[in-house]
Amino acid sequence: MNAAALSALQEIDSALDAIANKRPRLPEVAVHKVAADALAGLRSQVADAERRVTAAQSAIDAAEHAAADLTTKRSRLESQLKTVIAPREAEALMHEIATINARRGELDDDELAALEVFGEGQAELAARLAELPNCEAELTAAASALATAATALDAEAAALAVARRSAIEQLSPDELSRYEHVRTQFHGIAVARLQGSHCSGCHMDLSPAELDGVKSVAAGEVAECPQCGRMLVR
Ligand SMILES: [Zn+2]
Repeated sequence: MNAAALSALQEIDSALDAIANKRPRLPEVAVHKVAADALAGLRSQVADAERRVTAAQSAIDAAEHAAADLTTKRSRLESQLKTVIAPREAEALMHEIATINARRGELDDDELAALEVFGEGQAELAARLAELPNCEAELTAAASALATAATALDAEAAALAVARRSAIEQLSPDELSRYEHVRTQFHGIAVARLQGSHCSGCHMDLSPAELDGVKSVAAGEVAECPQCGRMLVR
């Protein structure tokens, strides 16, 4: 077993794992998320304001349309009234005209209320739209900072991939497959180091007899940790 090449490979793989871990935890990721959420929130406020303005406009149109209909009807009744002779009939017409006038008053109130909502909605819409460019610029800047940080990690990973290929070239297929197998088994750490009398993988102390066993393995060769089973190098 080529202890030096296995140790080198382990270091490279641990560095690659660290990069993979770091990627989603980059501060730029959090800043980007905040900016994206802020823009989404603002766009939803814009859409809300637009809906309120449109609804108020429809209410204004409906009130005006209904009022115009009533005006037409009232003109017709007023003409009728001029030709009516029977007092009872005239009274009925006048009553109808009064009802129309009352209804017109209600419609005017409705329209006024809708106009107020329309004005408020438009003011809100204008204010939110004015915030949009700044909010969009913040997201663009955050996306660019994130891309820069990701590119730096990509470059680190690419350099490690090159080093990994040359480390692998120094290992036999058997050594490599043992390494890969143990690495999967121990969540990424296949090769541990003997530090004093303990294993850097499981942090367990080896008994003097176990220590003698590990030390009896020739320098440059690979022992096995009697506690955890990882490949153990000195
Ligand atoms: Zn161990």
